[in-house]
Amino acid sequence: MADRSTIEWTDATWNPVRGCTKVSPGCKRCYAEAFAERFRGVPGHPYEQGFDLRLVPEKLTEPLMWADPRMVFVNSMSDLFQDGVPDDYILAVARVMQAADWHTFQILTKRPIRLQHLLSTKLNFAAGLTHIWWGVSVEDRHYGCPRIEVLRDAPASVRFLSIEPLLEDLGTLDLRGIDWVIVGGESGPGARPIRREWVEGIRRQCRASKIPFFFKQWGGVHKKRHGRELNGRTYNELPKRETRPVVSRARRLELARDLAHELPNDGQSTLLSPLAL
Ligand code: SF4
Repeated sequence: MADRSTIEWTDATWNPVRGCTKVSPGCKRCYAEAFAERFRGVPGHPYEQGFDLRLVPEKLTEPLMWADPRMVFVNSMSDLFQDGVPDDYILAVARVMQAADWHTFQILTKRPIRLQHLLSTKLNFAAGLTHIWWGVSVEDRHYGCPRIEVLRDAPASVRFLSIEPLLEDLGTLDLRGIDWVIVGGESGPGARPIRREWVEGIRRQCRASKIPFFFKQWGGVHKKRHGRELNGRTYNELPKRETRPVVSRARRLELARDLAHELPNDGQSTLLSPLAL
């Protein structure tokens, strides 16, 4: 699968975990599930096991292969903080992000309690890193908005909200400690509707709080018909990104070897294989 992404707010996706389970109404039409299940049972396909949870250690060092700095959406096809992913594996993912600091990593979850707990404990080494952005999905008031409170309590340098699919008017949001807000409507067959005034309400609050606002799409059954303009323009605002030098290939190989020794499983050879190509 191509690592480049068509998702408007990122450059590339990185999936060291595949598969997930549903937790709230925002999951109802999960695009990742729909994609993965198309390939269930196809021998040799990365999604041969459909949307069942699977760790993919051979993908762990992939960002170290990318010599051009990218915004990287981590686990676009999963949720890193679901129960079935061991702490040690999450730590290995974080060690790679720490090492590949010429990229900007975007981690999005609907399980912020574990995110908050780990960033306060075992993952604390990554909490202060400004090239790693930690976010929660927010689709409604009941399930989504409480995630904002948990994220705010997490000791992260950069916190963001992905308010997609926006399913109802969220009213007044407490945006203290939030550094970026993405908003979008649901797309595809049976897409639930979004209303302009809900989007405008969030945009206005972001403007008042000087928070970058990114409007991803209106969505709908045929999303291309509706586009992503709001008020006659596009909103593509992002938090400030720091630029760091890309290290040499030799150094990247060395980083991968060091990380291999920290791996919590027997995947040392597979961890190194991408750079050995
Ligand atoms: S948490 Fe995300 S990846 Fe998991 S089922 Fe829900 S929408 Fe899909």
